[in-house]
Amino acid sequence: MEFSREQINRYSRQIILKKIGTIGQKKILKSSVLIVGAGGLGSPIAIYLAAMGVGKIGIVDKDKVSLSNLHRQIIFTTSDIKKNKSLMAIKKLKKINPGINFETFQKKIIPKNINQIAKRYDVVVDGSDNFTTRFLINDYFLKKKKILISGAISKFDGQVYTFNFSKEKTPCLRCFIPLMPNNPDLDNCEYEGVLGALGGIIGTIQANEVIKEILNIGDSLCGHILVVDALKLTFRKVKLNKRSGCYCNEKK
Ligand SMILES: [Zn+2]
Repeated sequence: MEFSREQINRYSRQIILKKIGTIGQKKILKSSVLIVGAGGLGSPIAIYLAAMGVGKIGIVDKDKVSLSNLHRQIIFTTSDIKKNKSLMAIKKLKKINPGINFETFQKKIIPKNINQIAKRYDVVVDGSDNFTTRFLINDYFLKKKKILISGAISKFDGQVYTFNFSKEKTPCLRCFIPLMPNNPDLDNCEYEGVLGALGGIIGTIQANEVIKEILNIGDSLCGHILVVDALKLTFRKVKLNKRSGCYCNEKK
């Protein structure tokens, strides 16, 4: 592919980075990323990935925007209330970068439809709000040996996980959380609360991880969990090993 004049100009500040260059920017433009959940994490993830030039972006969310979402879900405005999140998100993203191919899925991702939704994507970014969805995405992308960047936020605490399942020694989400928690469908943000800006901190780190994995640059977070405490303002990288007996060790 050749860059258009518009593309050279739009991505010039990224192209001049030695670790990216024209080759790296072309890789980004050829990549496809599925974002599950257009919420507090999905908002900054989607905005940055579209701005940086990820060629194809899919957004899965069946929910409608509500007033109590707006303190953290910064892709939406007050006039979006009662409208579908994936549709409204893509409407904004097209204005940020009209050169991107967008796909919207106004449904909940479930075992029955995950293959149909996810099969054409290289990377998935999990910004979902419940454990049923998180485990489903983990198991599917593990099986497909693709890349999963997962994030979670609650109260003042957040975590980021990078799983590059194409690499043999990569642990999975079930290595860290062996058992499905009670009330797996509970949305913690709704019951325990969450600081609005925390979605921005964790979501932008997830977007950064996506680009690092696509380009294979820097130190991969894979094999670690990033634990963020927004009150103490500490960022800790905690080692995460493969757990013997975990689902990811089964011969596939
Ligand atoms: Zn595992």
